[in-house]
Amino acid sequence: MITEVAKASELHKIDPVFGQLSFDNHEQIVFCNDKDTGLKAIIGIHNTVLGPALGGTRMWKYTNEWEALNDVLRLSRGMTFKSAISGLNLGGGKAVIIGDSKVDKTPEMMIKFGEFINSLSGKYITAEDVGTTTPDMDLIRDVTPYVTGISQSRGGSGNPSPVTAFGVYMGMKAAAKYQFGSDNLEGKKILVQGTGNVGETLIDHLTKEGALVQITDINEARLKEISQKYGAQIFTGEDVYSAPVDIYAPCALGATINDATVNKIQAKIIAGAANNQLANEEIHGKILKDRGIAYAPDFLINAGGIINVYAEIVGYDSAEALRRTENIYNTTLEIFNFAETNSITTHQAALSIAQKRIDDRKKENAK
Ligand code: NAD
Repeated sequence: MITEVAKASELHKIDPVFGQLSFDNHEQIVFCNDKDTGLKAIIGIHNTVLGPALGGTRMWKYTNEWEALNDVLRLSRGMTFKSAISGLNLGGGKAVIIGDSKVDKTPEMMIKFGEFINSLSGKYITAEDVGTTTPDMDLIRDVTPYVTGISQSRGGSGNPSPVTAFGVYMGMKAAAKYQFGSDNLEGKKILVQGTGNVGETLIDHLTKEGALVQITDINEARLKEISQKYGAQIFTGEDVYSAPVDIYAPCALGATINDATVNKIQAKIIAGAANNQLANEEIHGKILKDRGIAYAPDFLINAGGIINVYAEIVGYDSAEALRRTENIYNTTLEIFNFAETNSITTHQAALSIAQKRIDDRKKENAK
């Protein structure tokens, strides 16, 4: 008898790419190989209806090529919806380089990768992601214009994290308006999980507004530093998810809303920066809805970074990037109301509004 696993591997043999679990009618998937530098990369171009596919390059020690392929397919699809919902004229793309960034990465490898990007003539534009840095983007810039996130001295837009945090703050305020009737966060108990680049700026905004911020991080030194700097209380409870707070802000890892946590959450709002917060978009999104928890879709409220990077392409200034990021407030409210009217989850609502924008543009383009 063939097991489920065996069936899946049989499927791989028949449809190694288009049959992948995360394949979602991607337009183009480019496999890049260079023997001399050891480069093995995959560029996933999900959709270019709204514009060139923009998304970062992740360098990761994948355990096998299927994992890398699935990751690039999943991430590039996510970028399509993030840019579409943010009103940007960008499509969705992402790249992965297979390898350990600390051990395997060389300038020659990055330059070679830049040449592959250049060969796509602007259909894909890259940026930093996990395992790649601004200096890497500068190397890529030497061989192609199709890169963002380069040094400010070379015309780049700088660190996107503060802008991302501002967008999360705006999304959280909109969620409060919807859930509590007021967007004033003064006195609200807010648990921020992850005090890194985005978490820190978010904590800054929240403490300035008078919220009662509690923080958690696996990095003890960082936790103490942020606590002292902003007067935020270090979370001392046993379990982050059952903490009696008003708002939970996941700013560390993805998939924290999962089978083990979703029914424990006491917060009335979830609004944070982490990507892919729902372990299963449909199942966990629905449970949150049924439990009356207002979930601000991650790919909508953490889009400040890409809005900032977009400025590098279209040439607007940082004030305009902030104005567009501020608008996350209005879009989040619109999505909460759309979800309520149509009895769907906020995640589904955001996806369907984004998809409509793509479909409308496709119709326009066909005229
Ligand atoms: P970061 O690496 O600077 O910070 C992450 C923090 O989370 C670190 O301090 C780390 O110690 C902590 N952490 C890790 N595991 C934890 C755990 N189990 N519990 C508590 N804390 C834990 O990352 P960042 O740039 O601040 O990004 C935060 C999240 O937002 C990530 O998921 C990232 O993918 C997402 N995001 C970031 C941006 C951006 O502009 N930086 C944009 C969109 C999405």
